[in-house]
Amino acid sequence: MSPMQKEQYESLKAVLSSPKNIVIVPHKSPDGDAVGSITALYGYLTKTGHSATMISPNDFPTFLKWMEHSDQILNYEMTRDQSDDLIADADLIFILDHNAFHRAGDLETPLSKAKATFIMIDHHQQPDDFANYMYSDTGMSSTCEMVYHFLENLDAVNTIDAAMASSLYTGILTDTGSFKYRSTTSTTLRVAANLVDLGADSEHINRRIYDVNTPTRMKLLGVALNNMVILENYRTAFITLTQKELDDNNFQKGDTEGFVNYALSLDGIVFAQIFIEKADESIIKTSLRSKGDFDVNQLAREHWNGGGHKNAAGGRSEASMQETVDKLISILPHYEADLQRTKI
Ligand code: 5GP
Ligand code: MN
Repeated sequence: MSPMQKEQYESLKAVLSSPKNIVIVPHKSPDGDAVGSITALYGYLTKTGHSATMISPNDFPTFLKWMEHSDQILNYEMTRDQSDDLIADADLIFILDHNAFHRAGDLETPLSKAKATFIMIDHHQQPDDFANYMYSDTGMSSTCEMVYHFLENLDAVNTIDAAMASSLYTGILTDTGSFKYRSTTSTTLRVAANLVDLGADSEHINRRIYDVNTPTRMKLLGVALNNMVILENYRTAFITLTQKELDDNNFQKGDTEGFVNYALSLDGIVFAQIFIEKADESIIKTSLRSKGDFDVNQLAREHWNGGGHKNAAGGRSEASMQETVDKLISILPHYEADLQRTKI
């Protein structure tokens, strides 16, 4: 755990006391926590006199596009030259909800060349060492909770309006699995309660995030559940989705969000993994989830060229779907003892 010290907040307050050119960057394929944290921080920085720009490595799901300022997020895939210039000219760059440049996709190159002062706010494990101000805490539920604490430490909670509160509430909601995961502390719930007092409408946000299914997404979920394989001996369940299955069901970005949780929700299952073919990148994107002390961050780092948190991680495979599934099956015996002894 590494919260920032009082002196660093004092130093940052001094930096932010005059107008700055600021760029804010979420991780590739931003989720609720990434979009929530960057839009709320953008709200704070612009209302305190800075010139700020949010640059995302790529597009993000429609169910997040209602958040205030989300329409101002530049998509690097469409704005390479403009974004490269903004990053090169920035005084400050905020890196939110990730802790290594490679998690920002093609933004890795301009970010590594940037001369700006870097501020990281993130709750993933093993942060890279590039930030001048590093607020990294793996005990935090979400980057959105951290942005709230960050503003508290800057004595700026009074700048949180209803739109900022809604953005921050969204990230806490999505990253905690609706306040279910162990990362949900009493402080997380207090922050969420404060955000409701500041104008976040819990029911409305829940509808915007969870009650926006399309018929084709439900069909795709049916295919995913039908493809689910349960390996009882390993307390594991996995799901595959090929590009053809996605295409046949009019796949839209974000449609497979949460599918892996159905595999994890099986009684007695400790480890769940989903494999989703991405033909345009010639990869299979994978998401890993676990219960209890079974560590999927470590597993994703060792075998799937990825990482994340203990109970939620991601990665990729460059092999075919069949080879990828075979690989999972060949890995599992090494984890059998761990899987068996995990208390759930
Ligand atoms: P998801 O499975 O929802 O995409 O991601 C779960 C968690 O793992 C998130 O915290 C996400 O940031 C992290 N994660 C997902 N994909 C990758 C990856 O390719 N590399 C790393 N290092 N982390 C990932
Ligand atoms: Mn997060």
